[in-house]
Amino acid sequence: MLQSVKDQPVTLVEHWLGELESAAKAGDDRALGRLFLAESYWRDAVALTWTLQTLCGADAIAGALAPALRTMGASEFRIGRADPPPQRVTRVEREAVEAFFSFETTIGRCRGVVRLCPDPADADQFRAWTFFTELEELKAFEETLGRNRPTGQSHSRDFRGPNWLDQRRDAVAYRDRDPAVLVVGGGQAGLAIAARLTQLGVDALIVDKHARIGDNWRHRYHALTLHNQVQVNHLPYMPFPPNWPTYIPKDKLANWFEAYVEAMELNYWAATELVGARYDLRHGRWAATLRLADGTERVINPRHVVMATGVSGIPNRPQIPGLETFAGQVQHSSEYRDGEDWSGRTAIVVGTGNSGHDIAQDLASSGATVTMVQRSPTLVVNIEPSAQLPYALYGEGLSLEHCDLIATSMPIPLTRKAHVHFTERSRELDKPLLDRLEDVGFKLDFGEDGTGWQFKYLTRGGGYYFNVGCSDMIAQGRIRLVQYADLDRFAESGARLKDGEIIDADLVVLATGYKGQEYLVAKLFGEDVAARVGPIWGFGDGLELRNMYRRTGQPGLWFIAGSLAQCRINSKYLALQIKAAEEGLIPAGAG
Ligand SMILES: Cc1cc2nc3c(=O)[nH]c(=O)nc-3n(C[C@H](O)[C@H](O)[C@H](O)COP(=O)(O)OP(=O)(O)OC[C@H]3O[C@@H](n4cnc5c(N)ncnc54)[C@H](O)[C@@H]3O)c2cc1C
Repeated sequence: MLQSVKDQPVTLVEHWLGELESAAKAGDDRALGRLFLAESYWRDAVALTWTLQTLCGADAIAGALAPALRTMGASEFRIGRADPPPQRVTRVEREAVEAFFSFETTIGRCRGVVRLCPDPADADQFRAWTFFTELEELKAFEETLGRNRPTGQSHSRDFRGPNWLDQRRDAVAYRDRDPAVLVVGGGQAGLAIAARLTQLGVDALIVDKHARIGDNWRHRYHALTLHNQVQVNHLPYMPFPPNWPTYIPKDKLANWFEAYVEAMELNYWAATELVGARYDLRHGRWAATLRLADGTERVINPRHVVMATGVSGIPNRPQIPGLETFAGQVQHSSEYRDGEDWSGRTAIVVGTGNSGHDIAQDLASSGATVTMVQRSPTLVVNIEPSAQLPYALYGEGLSLEHCDLIATSMPIPLTRKAHVHFTERSRELDKPLLDRLEDVGFKLDFGEDGTGWQFKYLTRGGGYYFNVGCSDMIAQGRIRLVQYADLDRFAESGARLKDGEIIDADLVVLATGYKGQEYLVAKLFGEDVAARVGPIWGFGDGLELRNMYRRTGQPGLWFIAGSLAQCRINSKYLALQIKAAEEGLIPAGAG
């Protein structure tokens, strides 16, 4: 290799990409292996392996990358012409030359991000520390965007034929056809995947049991605004307007969802619930039973079902001693609506995650007397600046597309390291608050191995609180805190503590989270499908989320969930896999 630390980033990257392509063409797997550091990562998003996967270490990477490059006919590795040029950056406390690149395979146009670092054994040799490859578009199945947009002529040239509105009404009615894809759940996950599929010409129907698009946000507590800043939260294709507030209020987002469905021409049936489905392996189709708004049922036969029902599906109602004898109202957090209903009354909130805190604050702010019961240690971060630290990249002037590429290119082991750092920084920034919380007996934790809230979300979907004021109310004693271990049992009038004190209550809110999606899968599709699919969400091999955004053990069954950013990014990969299955490029199932 002719590389040198004195070389410009562009030269280094061009040289590295050239070597990669030559090694692949020559079938020289050892040369390919030499391009990677001993500690290195290759993450592929559907470009070379038709799935999402991460491999670690030069030998493992070369062993898998070499045949993948050959099988997929990968070539034309170039620094992306429309991308920011390669530059020296610091990522996860390591200096690297970072570059966006493009390449082609026989079936697709692809992109990637490579980070080159000097080899610790020979500082003059730059090798890859991280290598990310993603499928951007399938050749001959490009999205109908920009110059590829539909002409719209047919709507105005034939004066007797159906106009645009007639065609939209017909498309959404599904009178004499079934969709290719049934998307279950019309929150951000459902909208993102349906929008991507629609652009690829795949007929997709979203069903949601709520009466109105956006009700999944509208029905949440009164004061809710999003926790992440607006620049991180865009849906695909249609960014939020530039005058929108940094933290979007829930009803504004709910109304945007309605506008999005309309503007992106998505087929959406509200007040429609999937009540069960069975897969016909011989015909490669589901028989999916939908309960419609009028109470009747319709069976449809899509080739794919995409579950977009949220990380948290079925409410978790733990057995709490004596709760059945309590004379007041018991609600799960998902049933809670508005603190105004409880003004001047007393409430106990069980659970100290985001929902528990937000509901406690809503009740206390509405004039209720509130006690929170803490069941297990909880991570607390101030909403600003601590909770925003991981998103600094999105405010540094790069386009959304490039920020997403950088974020997606980071393998999970390095993301974990980054989050240990963010968590340590948050602990310093939030120390005054955290000290005051400990003074009133609040039990804190900082996630597995100190990886903080992000990994709590990715492994269990909760267990943390972004402080928007409730922690201050607890520290000030405006909301009382009791440990679950000090609770004896519930009685008719409220909670009895082990020291004999009774905390009277009119309302008990169980902010005790949700059961995993596995329960919903078993309920809707049967135990055999649940067994074939296995655990959903969280990390099995520590490298990719289980069963998310990629083929599962059940043909024709896919999952999408997560933050707005995760849905925006991963809906692209999921849609491309489904399109490829529809076009016969890959089998529909069992990955
Ligand atoms: C206070 C707060 C702030 C947040 N801030 C942010 C933020 O800033 N950024 C961010 O990315 N995330 C944020 N989140 C978290 C997260 O984005 C949301 O929880 C989000 O709602 C998840 O979207 P989803 O589409 O995956 O699932 P959901 O919104 O839960 O939607 C799932 C839908 O599936 C439907 N459904 C379920 N089962 C069926 C069935 N059998 N048939 C038909 N329909 C069904 C439900 O009716 C529901 O509408 C926040 C959450 C809260 C509470």
